[in-house]
Amino acid sequence: MENLDIAKFGGTSVANYEAMNSSAAVVTSNPNTRLVVVSACAGVTNILVELASGALDKDKRDEKLAKLREIHTEITAHFDNDVKDRCNSYIEDHLKEICNLAVEATMGRSDALTDRIVSHGELLSSYLICEVFNKRGHKAKWFDIRTIMRTDSAFGCSQPLVEVLGHLSRQHLLPLLNNDEIVVTQGFIGSNSEGQTTTLGRGGSDYSAALLGEAAGAATISIWTDVPGVYTTDPRLVPHAKPIAELTYLEAAEMATFGAKILHPSTLVPAVRRGIPVYVGSSKEPEKGGTWVRPQTESKPPFRAVALRKNQTLIVLASPKMVGASGFLAKVFGIFAKYKQSIDLVSTSEVSIAVTLDAGSQTSGISSISDEMIAELREFCHVQIESGLSLVAIIGNEMSKTAGTATKAFDAIEKFAVRMICYGASSHNLCFLVDENNANDALIELHRFLLE
Ligand code: ADP
Ligand code: ASP
Ligand code: MG
Repeated sequence: MENLDIAKFGGTSVANYEAMNSSAAVVTSNPNTRLVVVSACAGVTNILVELASGALDKDKRDEKLAKLREIHTEITAHFDNDVKDRCNSYIEDHLKEICNLAVEATMGRSDALTDRIVSHGELLSSYLICEVFNKRGHKAKWFDIRTIMRTDSAFGCSQPLVEVLGHLSRQHLLPLLNNDEIVVTQGFIGSNSEGQTTTLGRGGSDYSAALLGEAAGAATISIWTDVPGVYTTDPRLVPHAKPIAELTYLEAAEMATFGAKILHPSTLVPAVRRGIPVYVGSSKEPEKGGTWVRPQTESKPPFRAVALRKNQTLIVLASPKMVGASGFLAKVFGIFAKYKQSIDLVSTSEVSIAVTLDAGSQTSGISSISDEMIAELREFCHVQIESGLSLVAIIGNEMSKTAGTATKAFDAIEKFAVRMICYGASSHNLCFLVDENNANDALIELHRFLLE
């Protein structure tokens, strides 16, 4: 389809009937938007993750199930009687299944079971928003994304199998986009080759939308959220942060990687592969405009944005055998690779190497740093682990090639103890690792010095 737009709506954009209505209006105002990808209603995934932990007793589980019922029936209360009855029984069927699975989790939790439980959030929200479209006089078709979103079996943080997705979408999804119905589907969830439900990790719906944009040959991917575009930093932390009209793929990808929650870190990957522009805007206030993320932009300021990524773990590995020896780094990185642990920052000295890891994107919320990995590292070097750290990153252009950039950044952060610095590998960022108690203040200070 020519000029196809894919619109993704996050949790707050489908939080309740009113939010769903605004989102539906955004979709129908653009005739090119034929495919809609939704997250679970705000708060639902968190509740499902708790139910999947296996740690709740019956009273607590019932309380959580009642909260899920309340969130979803607030929406169906606005439907006509026959539609309301059908939707309420759909909700009850899902609650029954969630309840059974949550009881199963008390006998032993697993990432596979967690994925099955959390998938109900997106299944419910997508089903209900279809009825909101219908009520507004626009036909909508519910599509189970698990038919085409094939992933590996790394439950809780699965990787999509892009070629299989392309093939399956040509077979099952693309033919639907030429009909007069708007196709509504789920973000975040997928299935492995055995048909088991998987998830792409927390916040993964942005990534789902971008993957579908690539598979469907979309002209644009629109990410509709609760703020009118990407700002110079999180406007919740710095209220006078400024909206950015356009960003390059690289800038946006760096921002997402370093913690700007507005985009899942992998979102730009499929967009870059196909050169698809990504728009970010507010579903509640679309008239406020937003941000275009494109291959190139007119301006390339040295300082574009600052971002904060919490929950960093620093691992310092030391071995006197490292002096003059070769192969130490290869061995260390080999072990991280074996445990599928992705390293963010690296700094080395003569006898030691320090790396930072982010343990937090798993759907279960459980740290992905395994004890076995640490034990294996301890077999040949001294290992020191520090947690409670945050990464504060400055994102910009040609930073390491412009005189005075580092001085300005260091002046801005002079009041804070910096545990580690990373600069030089990319000319687009400069990162400081700081104590998490100072992280917000450091971010505010950097923003004030460099961007206000
Ligand atoms: P959704 O549920 O729509 O996916 P998210 O909560 O995942 O929404 O992302 C939107 C939030 O991202 C905003 O409410 C804002 O607090 C946060 N955020 C972090 N960094 C930025 C930034 N640089 N610009 C805008 N929002 C940001
Ligand atoms: N519902 C999922 C989450 O809360 C996915 C998403 O919102 O993107 O993480
Ligand atoms: Mg999000």
